Amino acid sequence: MITITRNSPLRCSFCGKDEKEVARLIGGPNVHICDGCVGTCNKILEATPAEFAGWDKMTDAQLLSGLKTAEATVEATRAVLQAQIEELRRRAISWEAIGKALGISRQAAWERFS
Ligand SMILES: [Zn+2]
Repeated sequence: MITITRNSPLRCSFCGKDEKEVARLIGGPNVHICDGCVGTCNKILEATPAEFAGWDKMTDAQLLSGLKTAEATVEATRAVLQAQIEELRRRAISWEAIGKALGISRQAAWERFS
């Protein structure tokens, strides 16, 4: 029999809520996403045109209305990256190796993610 003991609850990598605060938590490689964030992602996908005609073809209102969604997407992606790096650090992977994988210096990796 295998027993897995965790000291801290699993958290959504996007919004940070723990497993007790959400209805469902779906796991991926070193990341988790809750039902609420899946719903947000679906709204983003529905709101995004299948074919992008170019920034110059969009109205001021369209550009303005998309800002919040774009920022949320950037923040969510940043949270996934941070979670991956924290897992690597938990595994005692060096800042040197993380920097090399990102194509930046050890110092730059440390400054950006520690
Ligand atoms: Zn979430």
